[in-house]
Formats: sequence, C-alpha cells, structure tokens
Amino acid sequence: MKVVGRAPPYTIQFLYKNTKYERRNMRYSRMLIPTTKEVPADAEITSHRLMIRAGLIRKLASGTYTYLPLGWRSLLKIIEIVRKEMDRTGAQEILMPSVQPIELWQKTGRNVDYGETLAKFEDRHKRWNVLSPTAEEVVTNIAVNEIKSYKQLPINLYQISFKFRDEFRPRFGVIRSREFIMKDAYSFDADPAGLDKSYKAMYDAYCRIFKRCGLRYVIVEAEVGEMGGSGSHQFTVPCESGEDTIVYTEDGSYAANLERADVDPLPKDNGRRLAGTPVVPVEVPPMQEVHTPNIGSIESVCAFLKTQPKDMIKTLIFSSEGDTIAALVRGDHELNTEKLTQTIGGGHVELADETIIEKVTRAKVGFAGPMVIAQKVPKMIIDHAVAAMAVGVTGANKTDYHVKNVVPGRDFPLEGDNIIVTDIRYAQEGDTYNGKKLLFKKGIEVGQVFKLGTKYSTKLGAKFLDETGNEKPCLMGCYGIGINRIMASAIELGNDKDGIIWPISIAPFEVIVTCVNQEETNVAQTAEKIYRQLLDKGIDVLLDNRDVRAGVKFKDADLIGIPVRVTVGQKSLAEGNVEIKLRSEPKSQKVTVEKARSKIIELISSLKEQLKV
Ligand code: ATP
Ligand code: MG
Repeated sequence: MKVVGRAPPYTIQFLYKNTKYERRNMRYSRMLIPTTKEVPADAEITSHRLMIRAGLIRKLASGTYTYLPLGWRSLLKIIEIVRKEMDRTGAQEILMPSVQPIELWQKTGRNVDYGETLAKFEDRHKRWNVLSPTAEEVVTNIAVNEIKSYKQLPINLYQISFKFRDEFRPRFGVIRSREFIMKDAYSFDADPAGLDKSYKAMYDAYCRIFKRCGLRYVIVEAEVGEMGGSGSHQFTVPCESGEDTIVYTEDGSYAANLERADVDPLPKDNGRRLAGTPVVPVEVPPMQEVHTPNIGSIESVCAFLKTQPKDMIKTLIFSSEGDTIAALVRGDHELNTEKLTQTIGGGHVELADETIIEKVTRAKVGFAGPMVIAQKVPKMIIDHAVAAMAVGVTGANKTDYHVKNVVPGRDFPLEGDNIIVTDIRYAQEGDTYNGKKLLFKKGIEVGQVFKLGTKYSTKLGAKFLDETGNEKPCLMGCYGIGINRIMASAIELGNDKDGIIWPISIAPFEVIVTCVNQEETNVAQTAEKIYRQLLDKGIDVLLDNRDVRAGVKFKDADLIGIPVRVTVGQKSLAEGNVEIKLRSEPKSQKVTVEKARSKIIELISSLKEQLKV
C-alpha cells in the first residue's frame, strides 16, 4: 500500500507514532462521518449537540462516549500539542496503570476523601482496586522507590491516559463524562524555590497549550479541594454553558473561581434600619421562642414569621474525622464547604447524619441553633456576615420551634477557644473584595495546576537525601488538563447556526475538497488532483467524493467545520477556477486551478499564525 503525507498526531497508545497515514482514509465516501439532524434530549449545550450532529461522538452509556474518526482526529491533535509543550518543559512522559490497588489510596486517606466519585471493584482474588481518577498515589510511589537523592531532582513525570470518575451527574457530553482523557503531570522538587519554578514552568506551558488550541481563557485562583496543598490556579474558558463560576473585579486585580473567591466582611449592622436616622443602637428584647410546627426550610420560616432570609441564621452540623462541627451562615448565604474545610485545617468534611444532629441539638433535623450547642461542639465556625448581624432568627434546638431576637455575641459567643469567626460562604452579587465590586461569569475549567507540597510525599514516604545527607520529603506539584474538554470548549467558542468552526490546530482536517459534480470526469479529476497535491504537501485534507447532492455536501462541510473549503464545480471550472472559502468567513474567492495549492497553503499558514506562541 502506498503511503503518503506526514506523520499523524500520536495516539495515546503510541501505536502509530511516526508512521504515515494512508491516502484512502481521507475520502469522505470511505469514512465513518455519520452527520445527523437528530439530537438526543440530554444534549443541553451547543458543543454537545454539534459533536453528535457532526458525527464526532456517540454515547455508549451515561458519561461514556465513543470517539468516531473525526472526533478522535481532533483529540489526537490536542494530545500532540499538549505532548509537545510538556516535552518542551523537560517533563518526561510515562504511562501508569488505570487499575490501582486500594491500599495505596488508603495510605493517603483518599479512598474516603474522594467520596463516591472514586470507582472501586473487587477482583477475583478478593482484592479491592480503584479505577484511577488521578494518579498522585501511584506517581508518588514511583518516587518512593526510584528517587533517592537531591541529584535526581527536579523531575516532572506526566502521562496522557484515561481517567474514570463516577460523576454524580454526568452531563454536557464530554465536558463532564465518567471516562475521559487527562494529561496529568507531577513535579518533584527539593525545596520551595524549586517547586515555585516547576509550577511556573507548567503554568506557562498551559498558557501556550490553550493558545495553540485556539481557546480564549482566563486564569483564576482556585481552591485546592481534596487534592490538598498550598495553592492552585485554574484555566477556564469563559462561556455561558460553563459549570464553573469565575469571580473577578472589573479592573482585573482579582480573579478566582467561586469555591475560592474571598469576600470582604460586611459592616457591623448596629440595628439602624433607615439611612439617615440617628445612631441609636436598637435595644433588642430577650430571645423569644416561637412555635413553627413542621416549618423547617428558610423560605417557609420566613413566610411564617414575616421575616427575610438575610435575617435568619442557618446552623449546619458537619462531621469531620470523628468530630462534630457547627457552622453558621446567614439565611440568604450559601455555605462553602471548601472554605469550611480549609478553616478547620483540611480533612474530609460532610454534613452530619440525622443521629448526630439529633444528639447535638436534641431536636429533629431543621431546628438547630447556635445557643447551647456552642458549648457542646469542639468547633463552631461563624461566618463574618453572621457576626455582623444585629439580630436574627434561628432554630431553637427544640423540634418545631424557632427563636426570635437572637443577638450574636449576646445569645451565643463570638469568641472562645472553640469559636472561629471567618469567611465560610460563597461570594454573591453585591459582595466586594478589597472594596471592589465582584462580578460573576460562567466558564469551563480546562486545566488546573496545584502546589501540593509534602502531603503525598509524607504520607507515602517519598524522601530524598539532601546535600548534607539529611532525609527530606519531596515537594510536589500536580498539573491536569482535560483533553476532551479542550475539544468541547473550542466548539462552544467556535460555532454558528450551521455548525462547528474549528481552530485550525485541532480541526479533524485542515482542508475539505468538495467535489460538486462527482459524475463529471473533469470535475472529479481536478478535485482529485488538488487533493493529492495537498496531501503531498503534508496537509490534512478530506476529499468529499460522495455521490450525493451538492447541497448535502455543503451542509456537511459547514457542520463538521473544516477551516478551509475548496469547491470544485463544473461552472467555475469552465472558467479554469475553483472556489476557496474559509469556514469562518461568509465569502468565497475564485482562484485558478494552478494557483489553488499555493493559495490554500497561504491561507492555512495565516490561520496557524494566529495560534502561534
Ligand atoms: P471539576 O471541578 O470540573 O469536576 P476537577 O477540578 O475535579 O474538575 P481536576 O482534578 O482538576 O478536575 O482534573 C484535571 C482536569 O481534568 C480538569 O481541569 C478538567 O479539564 C478535566 N476533567 C475533570 N473531570 C472531568 C470529567 N468528569 N470529564 C471530563 N473532563 C474532566
Ligand atoms: Mg480542577
């Protein structure tokens, strides 16, 4: 078989690394490109719908997808860009097992901390295994065995492989799927300055990767979550369909994701309700119990007591590593578990079960209040905004009762060994940070970088001998990119009513040659000639040689979104011309058959130029 063209993008299995592809694969008539008008009901967002309609993916089961030829070609190109940029930083590619013994995960406690998202199974020898959602444990284990001396540091190991996460709600097609491809890298350093350097190298590589993939992105401060560690940034593509919320100030001085975003404490409410009235702190009468039978939710209590959520105090009871923790937030605010977790110094935090709540409050769930229980729990975390309230309503620690006239500091303590007043809520409209108004935008997280520090190396024993012969734990960083999310985000950003508009770097093909009249020998031969010329130049070209109406070909070309279309049709050809059109531009231009190749090459390089780093 004659092979032509340049090497294709690498596959993750390395099978085709540096081999050449065959010409016959690039004829539409022979390819599996099942474009369709039908979109399933669960395809809520544009990229999901277009990926199905353009025949890039097909769903197998909830959160699992098959990538058909066009989808896979795009993924391979993304992988190639990611791999090149990772290699450029000196990181070394490896491949770790997807199935990992649970014992390793037990050592870090993440068999529990990861929660139900971690998929586990028992093998025939009754051993439990984890389906890797990420690989800190395994890579640290490599370091435990292979890194002995500071001379081997720094080192950065990365892989591009399948990850499995049993997401609670897989959705948005490949954006939140259960099985997906991630590039995950792990750096090991001898000291904090080294870690800073490794982190910066990854941060910069991510900027280059996303630029080369044609994405517009923002970088925000992020919460470390169950990953642990001291700092993190998230790379997010702003778009309406994103599940993440970016919080930022207009002047760009602050940008964080919603989990991380700090808020200024609210000013102390001294009870003056009307602006301009004299400063007279309101004397609040003593607390008063009110019967609120079967009324538990904030809304129903407010309706019943004719008050507002902002005047309510929510008392939430959590369990963390065997301790019971009370957390207070205002009724109109939402508690941020990430902030709560950070406040209590990490570990796994979850809402306490009914038995614990009933034991602490001596009431049914829904009637907890901070009075009395402040003395009972080892920790009570109070949000700034609650401490700033003049007076509020809360649960009475008595089934079917609430209390009015609750004054923070008078009726429950704002100080004490077990009391912390801090920021534990999500930012919301109207909040400020550093005195500046916070703004909110939706986005898709495509990548995240973390400074892990010694969390994993200490727990698993990844130590090295420093220059003076002292044993020290390695300082680690970890860095993830969602390959599939890059593809979906690019489609979210690049589309119109007719279909996808790919950035050329990750398009399944760079050029499509549309042969309008396949039955006309002259037309078919010219299309074939241009197609071969482009192939020989190493261009990724698809020849639409199908026996279908021209209208169908144009529609499909627009739908699958190949950046450059060359139309070879009888009419233009009679004048010696073909038509060249960019998918992103409305107008086409006529070029003589002889000049077609050089014109196409020129267009491709100008499209590529825009994505250069
Ligand atoms: P999310 O907050 O969206 O659940 P995450 O922060 O848990 O993601 P990381 O552990 O940071 O994800 O994983 C690294 C990258 O892997 C993410 O930035 C994202 O691009 C990708 N990713 C994570 N979960 C999924 C998923 N369920 N489907 C597809 N890609 C994912
Ligand atoms: Mg993340």
